[in-house]
Amino acid sequence: MRLTHRIVVVGGGVLGTMHAVMARRRGYQVVHLEREAEARGASVRNFGLVWVSGRRAGAEVGLALRARELWEELGGTVPGLGFRPAGSITLATDDAELRVLKEAAALPDADRRGFELLDPQAVRQVNPALRGELAGGLLCRADAIIEPRQALPALRGYLNGNGYEWRPEREVVEIAPNAVRDHTGAWHQCDLVILCPGATFTGVTGRYQAFLARDRVRRVRLQMMQTAPLAERLTTAVANGESLRYYPAYDLPGRPQLPPVPPVAERTRAQLLLVQRADGALTIGDTHEYAEPFAFDVDEDAYDHLRARAEALLGAPITRIQRRWAGVYSEVGPLVVGRALYHRSEVEPGVVLVTGPGGRGMTCAPAIAEETFR
Ligand SMILES: Cc1cc2nc3c(=O)[nH]c(=O)nc-3n(C[C@H](O)[C@H](O)[C@H](O)COP(=O)(O)OP(=O)(O)OC[C@H]3O[C@@H](n4cnc5c(N)ncnc54)[C@H](O)[C@@H]3O)c2cc1C
Repeated sequence: MRLTHRIVVVGGGVLGTMHAVMARRRGYQVVHLEREAEARGASVRNFGLVWVSGRRAGAEVGLALRARELWEELGGTVPGLGFRPAGSITLATDDAELRVLKEAAALPDADRRGFELLDPQAVRQVNPALRGELAGGLLCRADAIIEPRQALPALRGYLNGNGYEWRPEREVVEIAPNAVRDHTGAWHQCDLVILCPGATFTGVTGRYQAFLARDRVRRVRLQMMQTAPLAERLTTAVANGESLRYYPAYDLPGRPQLPPVPPVAERTRAQLLLVQRADGALTIGDTHEYAEPFAFDVDEDAYDHLRARAEALLGAPITRIQRRWAGVYSEVGPLVVGRALYHRSEVEPGVVLVTGPGGRGMTCAPAIAEETFR
């Protein structure tokens, strides 16, 4: 790949925006095109979790830790990211879940993740809002929180000025050597195109399906909700024992002994993650739907389950749900041998497609963009 001066980034989500940040750091001029007036994809619909705790040992946790460093560094110069090194607690409510937490706390890389096993009293010392029945918790000091609804405009504000041009409401419809054309007919000349279309695999990205098929990139739909602001602060992000069934870090000897989850959690692939926003609201999720066509409506049974789980851990009713939404991300297929952590390919000379980071995309975006330039 030959880099010279001017880069067009397509896609205003976190991957596109972090590529713009890393390109500007290297002195390239950037034109940043987004089809919507403001990004509306997975990057603004997520928890804002910079999530190191559940990552697989080795390359995956390495990528997440590097990204976490970059988020913290950016958080120091861009206060609008709302970066908070809050950590997280994954909670056990029975002996089988506690056993998995103990095994995780004994992992060789537990120190890098900042893992510490807590008894119920210690859990409440760290996060006094957790008043429900608990068997214990796993503190992860490396986990952090950012504000997804603010982060992208804040990063663009930081980039704004010489060398960076944000062009919303421009859908890229054609890619030619050294230029892209948007739907208004305008051409944008460049030396390199970085295409970050998120989970949109039609339109201009449609012609690169064969590259995506190589990594079996697929799409996943999630349901989320958010409460009205709470006066009490939660000092950490929170996950429940259902998450031990899904995250690769917890693929440990105790996992097969975990009891089955209730049918609604099984059907909707639900796990509880709970993050407090800067204004006090609680973002609560999530579910996982893999079969397309996706539902166009949201499933209230899943919300009832997540609400009950949240109230059990907090030991109190949660405030009124103010917002509900669903989001879709793309991820590299789980059945690929030597599975990459995300998809990157040079789909044409001078055109690089980056997508498929899955449920770790918000976490890893700065490190993925750094790797593209490396
Ligand atoms: C509900 C939910 C919760 C999540 N929680 C977390 C979390 O807490 N932590 C974490 O690490 N990850 C999380 N993820 C995953 C993470 O959000 C995604 O991996 C990440 O945001 C993907 O970023 P992206 O830039 O690739 O995609 P997107 O955010 O979808 O952005 C792609 C952008 O490209 C634009 N676009 C597409 N085609 C064109 C075109 N032709 N021309 C111009 N623009 C175009 C789209 O309009 C869109 O704005 C979550 C995802 C969801 C859905």
